[in-house]
This record gives sequence, structure tokens and C-alpha cells, in this order.
Amino acid sequence: MYELNAKIRDLEPYEPIAGDYKIRLDANESFLRLPESIQAGALHATFRVELNRYPDPAAVSLCRAFAKNYGVPIENVVAGNGSDELISVIFQSFLMKGDTYATIMPDFSMYNFYGYISECRRVVIEKDKNWRIDVDKVLETCNNEGVKLLIFSNPCNPTSLGLTRAEVRRLVCSTSALVVLDEAYMDFWEESMLGEFQNYDNLLILKTCSKAFGLAALRVGFAVGSEKLIRAIKAVKSPYNVNAISQCMAEVVLNSRGECDAAIRRLLLSRDELQRGLDRLAARFPEQMETLPSVTNFVVLKTPRAGELFRYLLDASIAVRYFENMSALRITAGATGDNAAVFGYITRFF
Ligand code: PMP
Repeated sequence: MYELNAKIRDLEPYEPIAGDYKIRLDANESFLRLPESIQAGALHATFRVELNRYPDPAAVSLCRAFAKNYGVPIENVVAGNGSDELISVIFQSFLMKGDTYATIMPDFSMYNFYGYISECRRVVIEKDKNWRIDVDKVLETCNNEGVKLLIFSNPCNPTSLGLTRAEVRRLVCSTSALVVLDEAYMDFWEESMLGEFQNYDNLLILKTCSKAFGLAALRVGFAVGSEKLIRAIKAVKSPYNVNAISQCMAEVVLNSRGECDAAIRRLLLSRDELQRGLDRLAARFPEQMETLPSVTNFVVLKTPRAGELFRYLLDASIAVRYFENMSALRITAGATGDNAAVFGYITRFF
């Protein structure tokens, strides 16, 4: 009988929260559908796609639209099948089996997963009790443990908190490790390192179209870094990693900067509404709950009764994300009615 090896024997396929919930605030997606005119334009553009041909392996038009949008040279950009794929390729590219990488926990779970699959040694740096990153502690660990790759999200999923540019700069300057800075949520904040990545040869920045741009279904992400790093990723990734329909549609959306900016403003208004509402509840039930000041499109609610509240919301057909290890719920900003429903149920719960 064929036996699976020890590495994969106990792994389970990824499953989002199963069930048909009326309100889904569990995956940090944008709650906004694309404006009809943009979606129509993007679909119309796909008529040009020759479905009998493989897609452009370098996704040049898509990368050009991204590069123009963020003011970076196209030579420094590579596209991925979501930034998730790029995380996997980065582990395969820059680490050898047994090499040491570091994560700063709590953080996005996929870093540890891909590190595990790559058979690398993991060093975990804990955040402080308020889930803030202590830059000195990170640097000390990287230097003492021979860390080859440090990966973290900024702003952070799941804490919703961020490091300033000055702090990130200090980190990148003071380590020889490759720093992979996942800026999946940086379109909601203003501390991006994209404007200065060229000053560092050990910095890779990840971006995604899944959050602020509302294109989670298309699976499009990017990495930005020195030409040397980007060429290495291009050499390791599978040749046709981003399908032609996604390349074409995401390009149209990235070229619609006015509409994208308007969508981001609406998402930020919703985030502020969610934050204010939850802050008000936290002021009413100070013994029961606490909120964190978000710089993302989601808000974190810390409560000793997080598990119970999670299940209570599921029963009300509202899906949010429960982090047992943090005793917290992560709630994605939604439409005004959805945010109001969350406030109503949480009020009744306490
Ligand atoms: N990084 C972070 C921090 C994320 O939260 C996510 C999505 N949850 C990703 C990367 C993956 O995004 P993508 O859809 O581009 O694969």
C-alpha cells in the first residue's frame, strides 16, 4: 500500500468556514463588487484573449499596469497567482532545506505553512502582549539565530496593526536576512516601502489585488524587489502561473485608478464605521471586550468569550474569523447594514 511521507501525512486541504452564511466578514475581502462599467470593460477586454494559447509567462501588460500604478520600474515586478503563490515560490527560491527563517507571531498563517513544506527551520519571534513588534528583539533574534529569511505582514493580518516606515527601514538596514514585507493591506495605510525598495538589496515587497482592489476571485499578486531577486523568482515560478483571463481583467482594473481610489475610500469609511461601533461597545462592556486600532480593512475584537461569541454570530448567519490563540475575533469591514447587524448581535450577546 502506498504510504504518504511524514511531512504530508497529517495535512488537511484548506477549507474556509463551511456553510452558507448571509453575512461573510471572515476573509478580509472587499465587500464592494466592481463598478458595473469596470467589470463590463474588463470582461469585454477578455474577448481579445486567445484561449487556445498559453498566457504571457511574464504577464508584461499586467505588470506594466501595476508598475505605473505604484510608480515602480517594471523590471522590478513579478506577478503571481495571488501573493500566496509568491510566498511559496519565495520559500523555494531563497531558502535551502534546513535553512532558518523567522516569523513574528501572531501573523499570516501561510508563512509557517510554506516554511514547513520547504523543510526549513523556523524561529518564532513573539509579539509583545499588545501584539506590537519589538524591532530590537527581531533584529537580535535574526542575528543570533542565523536567520536567512524574515517574513511578516505590514500592516499585519490578523492583528490589524502596523510598523511605521522608519521602523521597517531600521529592520531592513540592520539585518543581512532577506526581508519579505507583505504589504497586502498597505493600500489602507500610508507607510509603504514601495517608494524606497531600491535602496535595499535584501527587501522583497508583496502586494495583492485581493483586498483593496476587490479581485480576490482572479488570484493576482505581485512581488517587488531588486532585479536580481525578481529574476530569481521568475526563474523558479511555474512558467504560466497567472492565467490569461486574470492577467487581462486585472490589467483593466489597475488602469482604472480613479474608480480604485474611490473604492478604497469607501472601504476606509466602512472600516472607520466598524471601528467606531466596536469601540463604543468596548466602552460599554470594558470588562468583556477590547478593540485594536486598525490600519487595515478589518477590526480585531479581543474578548475572553471570543469562541462563544464566534459561534453565536455563526448561529445568526454572520461569519467572522476566530483566533483561539489570541482569544479574538477578526471582523472584516462590510456594507453598512452588515456592520450594523454585527453591532446588534454583539450588543445582545453581552
Ligand atoms: N498576505 C496576507 C497578509 C493576507 O492576509 C493574504 C490573504 N488573506 C495574502 C497574503 C494572500 O493574498 P492573495 O489573495 O494575493 O493570495
